Amino acid sequence: MSNTKYIFVTGGVTSSLGKGIIAASLAKLLQSSGFSVTIQKLDPYINVDPGTLNPYEHGECFVTNDGAETDLDLGHYERFLNIPTSQANNVTTGRIYQTVINKERKGDYLGKTVQIIPHITNEIKRRIKILGQTGDYDIVITEIGGTVGDIESLPYIETVRQLQWDLGKENAIVIHLTLIPYLAAAKELKTKPTQHSVKELMQSGISPDVLVCRTEHHINDKIRRKLALFCNVRQDAIIESIDADTIYDVPILMQKEGLDKVVLDRLNLSASRTPKLDKWNDFLKKFKNPKNTVEIGLIGKYVELQDAYKSILESIGHAGAQNAIKVNVHSIHSEDISHKNISEILKNLDGLIVAPGFGERGISGKIEAVRFARENNIPFFGICLGMQMAVIEYARNVLDLDKANSTEMDEITPFPVIDLMEDQKEITNKGGTMRLGAWECKIDKDSKAYEAYQSELISERHRHRYEFNNDYLEQLTNEGLRSTGVNPDTGLVEIIEIPTHPWFVGVQYHPEYKSTVLDPHPLFVAFVKASLENKK
Ligand code: GLN
Repeated sequence: MSNTKYIFVTGGVTSSLGKGIIAASLAKLLQSSGFSVTIQKLDPYINVDPGTLNPYEHGECFVTNDGAETDLDLGHYERFLNIPTSQANNVTTGRIYQTVINKERKGDYLGKTVQIIPHITNEIKRRIKILGQTGDYDIVITEIGGTVGDIESLPYIETVRQLQWDLGKENAIVIHLTLIPYLAAAKELKTKPTQHSVKELMQSGISPDVLVCRTEHHINDKIRRKLALFCNVRQDAIIESIDADTIYDVPILMQKEGLDKVVLDRLNLSASRTPKLDKWNDFLKKFKNPKNTVEIGLIGKYVELQDAYKSILESIGHAGAQNAIKVNVHSIHSEDISHKNISEILKNLDGLIVAPGFGERGISGKIEAVRFARENNIPFFGICLGMQMAVIEYARNVLDLDKANSTEMDEITPFPVIDLMEDQKEITNKGGTMRLGAWECKIDKDSKAYEAYQSELISERHRHRYEFNNDYLEQLTNEGLRSTGVNPDTGLVEIIEIPTHPWFVGVQYHPEYKSTVLDPHPLFVAFVKASLENKK
């Protein structure tokens, strides 16, 4: 029997309090104290996975090595813990119901009425315990999406109640993250919303072991006493979570507040260990004391929403810290760019990234941006759709293949330089059917990619349906656009470069999913460095 301990993180009062960051920060502290830890996210929506959601709805879709399309919080988990997650780390209500309904159709519950309790809650329990049963983890942290009191969260909260009963409270604790709002007119922090939110939890049979209080102002002893009294939580378990300059400060702030100690104490684990955070602190030092600054343009079509490009923005931050460079990212809407205004819009930028994406909207601006970078020797990094745009731009403007396009945007283009992958042609379902997850790529030694990776064989994560059309490889190569990385099994082009340009790299995969605080991604590091050189 495994002795895995479980920590549940619930949220109260409002959404967007940063449960994912608190969970990841606690996990970091426990990992740094020598425990093996993983984090799981349970999402209360009916989509089977977030792969079919527009980024405007739920931010970026994060992809794991095993090809799961998951919630962006898994990106935080990986960036903080430096260990990969998998499908088991993200479960939605849709997936739970799909499993139960499939079983019902098979006859697994023959003769019985299938109900939320026990059938749905049992399936939730099974999904929570799966990670613990691998025996790989001392501690599994499960973050429950949504806010306590939502209709959608009820089965999850009920499952936590049952699990505390099954496993014993010393093996399964609940951390409730809540908001302590500040009323400017009264100059006061208010505890009432938290009291109500805890009451809501208690009605479901759960008494939180720890309260983490998001606040814009420090909470004093009086507030702590009040919260302890009204919420049935011991005073040492009232943890302040004050707004931080960067999410990477949060583990340090949580350590100062003693979150790790309280948690270990409640779980009957030795709380005498002190987290070893030297490398984390080194990163923070470099992150906060840059020696140079560069201006990077991020060209995409979801730029109004920061969460849409979460992993790219974090990867840029990691790469900046590695180079001791402060990177100012300018998010530019591709729909705002035209041939006329481009030099005005992009003139002060040291490097350009063209972002991933789907569909026709905003692509002409992306193509203009590629052209501008290519013609003006500005470091260029094209990611997935960004790489495809670079191929189209080269075909149109260097090879004179007028109307060259991707068949995603123009099905009857005379020059389909980007085309649907062969094994995608028969697929009609949209959910979970792209080329997903980690695939190998063999890199030419004589390339910018090799200079960055220092390795001839890499593995990177994918999420796309279209690909570089190898029918045009020779023509493009002859005119100076090289393929410098291919999939060794299928010959699919993974990396393109222009060797005569200071730094022009496009990748069909998503390097941003693999950058972590302690292991910044080599291509982002090289791109930021090239942007600094360009500035000089
Ligand atoms: N829409 C493109 C494709 O499906 C690119 C996808 C992406 O940028 N993730 O191939």
